[in-house]
Amino acid sequence: MLAYTYVGPGRFELLEKPKPALQDARDAIVRVTLASICTSDLHIKHGSVPRAVPGITVGHEMVGVVEQVGAAVTSVKPGDRVTVNVETFCGECFFCKHGWVNNCTDPAGGWALGCRIDGGQAEYVRVPYADQGLDRIPDGVTDEQALFVGDILATGYWAADISGIGQTDTVLILGAGPTGLCTLQCVGLKRPARIIVCDPDESRLALARRMCPGVLTTGPEGLRDFVLAHSDHGGADVVLEVAGAGDSFRTAWECARPNGVVTVVALYDGPQTLPLPEMYGKNLTFKTGGVDGCRCAETLDLIARGEIDTTPLITHTCTLQEIGAAYELFEQRRDGVVKVAVRVS
Ligand SMILES: [Zn+2]
Ligand SMILES: [Zn+2]
Repeated sequence: MLAYTYVGPGRFELLEKPKPALQDARDAIVRVTLASICTSDLHIKHGSVPRAVPGITVGHEMVGVVEQVGAAVTSVKPGDRVTVNVETFCGECFFCKHGWVNNCTDPAGGWALGCRIDGGQAEYVRVPYADQGLDRIPDGVTDEQALFVGDILATGYWAADISGIGQTDTVLILGAGPTGLCTLQCVGLKRPARIIVCDPDESRLALARRMCPGVLTTGPEGLRDFVLAHSDHGGADVVLEVAGAGDSFRTAWECARPNGVVTVVALYDGPQTLPLPEMYGKNLTFKTGGVDGCRCAETLDLIARGEIDTTPLITHTCTLQEIGAAYELFEQRRDGVVKVAVRVS
């Protein structure tokens, strides 16, 4: 089968590899139908994910059809259409039992697919702990609608959820990239009084307005004044930092009102400073982390009911054979690309 492979630093290639086989009774083999390219794939390519293993097939955002299951798998069967979760988790350890699956203590747990083990920019993928890592796509939901459920939409759903958003709140979202826009949709489900999205790219702000009518949008210049003018208590009640830019962490807490919540979703390239003397008396609550992606069934339900629609993020489509060019387009952010859907079979 064809598999897009991390050959070594700076190099991904489409290679012919053997089809994966079951290795454990809790594994499943999924025939990939639609995959996508994520910014984290680029981080692997550029060597900023040291745990990524050269030779692995990349890709951790995909949907497909179950081809084969191990003897202990009970929640899916061959022929089921499924989303694949970016995180591998056992479902049994202390952290999994609390829903904190990002911290699963299983040696195979965490971001494994397309990083430490073969991922899904390929014709087939082996998914460990299939009962946890796969969710059935409801009838009537297309592959395109379900494509982001296991990764960036899971992140947006988790971020909106941990932020404790109330109906009188002004919520500020920094960043209108793919994850920011997924976060926007999930924040919208909480029905806050106002949502403000900030991004330097006007075309992405236009997409935010299309995906969430009524949202207020602005560039980073004059953001603090904009937030003050559109909030009731001297800043945003909740700030979700999804930009991960040079100064966006500082912007996030500066735009929060006293006693507000700042949720840091972004993954930074370098350390950030927490200038506590400047923050003293502001009494902020910070929430940080990596997605606990264990509520995919809920997001699939919301998609089936028409309450979440992330299909506007798919600006480009290609075949697996064309994936190299699609990476280049995605990396250079050419032609207004937000997300590329890779049609595999
Ligand atoms: Zn990702
Ligand atoms: Zn676990």
